[in-house]
Amino acid sequence: MDCLFCKIISGEIPSKKVYEDETVYAFYDIAPMAPVHVLIIPKQHLSSINDVTPENSAVIAHIYEVAAQLAKELGIAESGYRVVSNCGADAGQTVFHLHFHLLGGSKLKVEMC
Ligand code: AMP
Ligand code: ZN
Repeated sequence: MDCLFCKIISGEIPSKKVYEDETVYAFYDIAPMAPVHVLIIPKQHLSSINDVTPENSAVIAHIYEVAAQLAKELGIAESGYRVVSNCGADAGQTVFHLHFHLLGGSKLKVEMC
């Protein structure tokens, strides 16, 4: 499959890894929008939240566990952070492998849309 994030998981395309386990991979965003900007992705290829089902949703809960752990490790757990997943054209999704942006390290804009 011609998927940028599948290639990052396999190592075909380099990334700055911050975390990896059996089901999840996390790495620094190449164009950070905040002092801390990490992408957390399932290793299984899911195109977006639209692909989440009762059969595969356990990894989503795990991604939030990883987000909480990384927030602590990266020093933003107390100051605050945002976890965002863009789904589809209106949300501006550009990479169609499900990913969660972990953003923090400065006062984030309040506007959500
Ligand atoms: P989205 O717009 O929600 O689909 O987010 C895609 C994100 O992937 C953007 O924030 C990009 O900066 C980021 N991105 C694209 N290519 C790479 C890459 N090779 N390594 C790390 N992050 C990337
Ligand atoms: Zn993929």
